[in-house]
Amino acid sequence: MKRSLLIATAIFTASITATLAAPKNIILLIGDGMGEAEIAVTRAYAFDGDAGLYVDEMKDRGSVIVKQLMVDDPTKIEFTGESASGGTTLSTGNRTSAGRVAVSAFDGNHYKTILEEVQERGYKTGLVTTSIITDATPASFAAHAQNRYCFVKGAKACSQFADTPIVDQMLDHNVDVMLGGGKNLLPGTAVQGGSVEQKAKGLGYTVVTEREDLIKLAVGTKTFGVFSNGHLPTEWVGPGGKGADFLEVNGNREVIFPKPAACEINPAHAGIPKLEEMSKYAIDNLRVGGHGFFLVIEGASIDKAAHVSNPCGTIGEMLAFDRTVKMAVDYAKELGDTAVIVTADHGQSTQVIYKPETYDGSPIRRDLIPGFYQSLLTRGGHELGVYYGTNNINDQSHTGVNVPVLTYGMDNAEDLTGVIQQTEIYPAMKKFLFN
Ligand SMILES: [Zn+2]
Repeated sequence: MKRSLLIATAIFTASITATLAAPKNIILLIGDGMGEAEIAVTRAYAFDGDAGLYVDEMKDRGSVIVKQLMVDDPTKIEFTGESASGGTTLSTGNRTSAGRVAVSAFDGNHYKTILEEVQERGYKTGLVTTSIITDATPASFAAHAQNRYCFVKGAKACSQFADTPIVDQMLDHNVDVMLGGGKNLLPGTAVQGGSVEQKAKGLGYTVVTEREDLIKLAVGTKTFGVFSNGHLPTEWVGPGGKGADFLEVNGNREVIFPKPAACEINPAHAGIPKLEEMSKYAIDNLRVGGHGFFLVIEGASIDKAAHVSNPCGTIGEMLAFDRTVKMAVDYAKELGDTAVIVTADHGQSTQVIYKPETYDGSPIRRDLIPGFYQSLLTRGGHELGVYYGTNNINDQSHTGVNVPVLTYGMDNAEDLTGVIQQTEIYPAMKKFLFN
């Protein structure tokens, strides 16, 4: 054979090999509002600050700088994040402003998402969350909207920018598995008329609303599962069902510190599928056929519980998320060519403190402590103080702390180590999948 022919044959063989290489998989786990403080309070409560969290064992890790664009003037930066803008940055590599779902902050133009790109290449896709399925994080991968609250036809939010309702977009998007909250979406009206439930069924979805029905479903079923009205209830609640609150005072307005108490199981969570159960179903479903898959799993209420100053809510959801991360890594080990990427969209307002104190030793009066405090009794019997102080109306703000990025199984893991911008996660995922 002539040398040129040999080279041509070699090139042809190499390109065949490249074409036939099995597609890879990504499991992207997003802890909503999972800053280092939310991980720290969980580590302290459940393990007395020692080893025990799986996310602490992951060796490939970086620290992510979060910021977003201002709503009123997108040329200006806001040094915190939010779920729609953060979801957009993760799904498209672009920064946008709060409330915008995979669209530009400047002109509302759509940004193509990584989920859309993998679908074009024949991958299977899935979205699993503990929030309503149309909430900002899952929506950022399979919908485009200028107002994140345009969930369903008739919602007031839809009229602001004439967005197409997110539930219609997500169903039309042909995502293979969608699991979360949102039973109350089903009777809503679909854009083309009829109910959302009828539309889902018409598009070939099996609609499930009960945990027992989900775990019985055959793998390969195109599934739309919604297991509570709105967001799923958290696994845990605070002592006596209560979260952090104003401290009580004596007649001199001096603070009376409460006795530390343990978190409790939330009775409202009974019968609701756990995050790892939904995630297991999704992975078992998406792996069939070896098409390659892209799955987003969101622990949504790490954030939602912090908003209402409820540390036990955050801790229970963080532990559920952590168990799910471990399960995803176990799958990745079994499947091969599968990357697990764990990160957050933004940080939250949880602060681990001992007790509010004055360092000069003077008595603490109530007016010196404007926020909410709770004293928890850790599993090891230690006192753990948690404070929320971004406002005193029990609707805490996100904070601008860095969030972690932890990976397993990436052949380009170095792209996501050290201190990175949130915009760097999207290109790293594409490089892993497509290079
Ligand atoms: Zn939030």
